Amino acid sequence: MTYERSIAAFSRARNVIAGGVNSSVRAFKAVGGSPVFIKSGSGAIVYDVDGHEYVDYVLSWGPLLLGHANPAVTKAIAAAAARGASFGAPTEAETELAELICSMMPSLDRVRFTSSGTEASMSAIRLARGYTRRDKIVKFAGCYHGAADPFLISAGSSALTLGIPSSPGVPRATAADTIVVPYNDPDAVDAAFAAHSGEIAGVIIEPYAGNMGLVLPQSQFLERLRETCTRERAVLIFDEVMTGFRVARGGVQERVGIRPDLTVLGKVIGGGLPIGAFGGSEDVMAYLSPDGPVFHAGTLSGNPLAMAAGIATLKAVRDDFTLFERLDVLTGLLTNGLAAVLEKHGVAHQTAHAGSMFGLFFTADPVVDLASAMKSDTSLYAKYFHAMLDRGILLAPSQFESGFVSSAHSTRDIERTLAAADDAFAEIGAAAP
Ligand SMILES: *Cc1c(COP(=O)(O)O)cnc(C)c1O
Repeated sequence: MTYERSIAAFSRARNVIAGGVNSSVRAFKAVGGSPVFIKSGSGAIVYDVDGHEYVDYVLSWGPLLLGHANPAVTKAIAAAAARGASFGAPTEAETELAELICSMMPSLDRVRFTSSGTEASMSAIRLARGYTRRDKIVKFAGCYHGAADPFLISAGSSALTLGIPSSPGVPRATAADTIVVPYNDPDAVDAAFAAHSGEIAGVIIEPYAGNMGLVLPQSQFLERLRETCTRERAVLIFDEVMTGFRVARGGVQERVGIRPDLTVLGKVIGGGLPIGAFGGSEDVMAYLSPDGPVFHAGTLSGNPLAMAAGIATLKAVRDDFTLFERLDVLTGLLTNGLAAVLEKHGVAHQTAHAGSMFGLFFTADPVVDLASAMKSDTSLYAKYFHAMLDRGILLAPSQFESGFVSSAHSTRDIERTLAAADDAFAEIGAAAP
């Protein structure tokens, strides 16, 4: 396949946009080559500027639970736009979306909207710090909570050493307040609390980790976290920006039956428009300004277009009682099918699937945390990515991301994908030394 127009579009973009993209992973650095520029999407399919079509498993990195240009969502956005894009004053749509969220996620009595998941997790940890009057937070290696300073910290060699920034520009002082521990290691969390007694404001976690590929919690890991936070009077923050309204109506917290103190949301709740939210019990949320002392504000927070898209999306979730069951079956069909294809071609692999999220690693060893995820053969992933792209299947241009299925995907789309994978590995295998 030729990607001439995409290549030209990228070189034009690079003249005026730093690196040619507005979010780093889009540049294809992890898989090589030049990014595909998208022209439009409909349902499970996206079309690029060269006229190719792809079954899309990126889905804007998660938001599009109902697929591209869902008619109800598109209609709601158009109607809201005709009434005016933004007012900087309260609208009833904000209350309506908040009611939908609180009714489907029982741990939330109150929410606050933002314009991105990053902003929401920043605000959630500020609230946790203000509420507990403590400074340190615990995060897990490989979990992503947005592009804000306190989260851009890697574990370094020892889990309990003070955080080391993963990006220039993150001050050492900020990094020093973030304690990084391995995912699925409850003893490391307890050790962090023992080493910093009375100093830890909260623990932030992706309860299903979706930003190092898909890594699921082992039995009792999340339960132990809940117990530790309760005992230490620290705020347990579930970052469900990716998993909220995607793995179940009520997110991971519904599936595992654990009540976090604060929840961070984004992606699906905005139906493809810029959004984030954080919420929790009435008691903790009362610490937010204007009722309480912890500041939060945003010019476009609760934006009417985002609210309209979110309401249309969450109403579809609320009214479709078999939605997540169907998505689960479809996604299972995909991961089981991929596992069978890889087996056939003799490729070592690990697959994971939860609701409409899926992951694939090229390693023979189980993946439970960042260190084991890093064992995946990323050069094989790059070959797989390009071979699938050439066969009309769009996957995330990086090994360390989740894949997503939407309600617009059909069994036929999955079958087409598995046939493409079989063909792709025949080619990749033939090319191997
Ligand atoms: C995407 C994501 C974020 C950041 O959301 P943005 O809207 O990109 O700022 C935060 N946490 C998790 C778990 C995410 O997947």
